[in-house]
Amino acid sequence: MSEPSIFTRILQGEIPATIVAETDRVFAIEDIAPQAAVHLLVIPKTPYRDVAELAAGDPTLLAEMVAVAHDLAAERADGDFRLLFNTGAGAGQTVFHVHAHLLAGGSLGEKSLVGA
Ligand code: 5GP
Repeated sequence: MSEPSIFTRILQGEIPATIVAETDRVFAIEDIAPQAAVHLLVIPKTPYRDVAELAAGDPTLLAEMVAVAHDLAAERADGDFRLLFNTGAGAGQTVFHVHAHLLAGGSLGEKSLVGA
């Protein structure tokens, strides 16, 4: 069995992080290296490798992530947001437990392309 991801370890309380939202199947944390005024990571508790695997395996769970992101953008910014999934190392993915970067607040320029 593979090692638990850093996000699973955060969920289990082994690594500290600020959990800002949680449902039965999804949680969200503050990114440790924010790239925008609001930079959160929305993460399914089930560790699919990337968004393509998640969309194929459980599209309802992907939709739940989007709903959580929508609510957080309304709570923490003006409701507008950018949702970004780096998919594959060549695209900047470093943690292979799917997560959406939720970027919001202020003007989101090209700098807010995480991993670019
Ligand atoms: P990726 O590069 O896979 O798209 O995104 C991984 C994200 O996880 C990065 O934005 C990085 O800053 C964040 N990250 C990595 N390790 C930790 C950690 O221990 N705590 C938190 N809160 N974020 C982390």
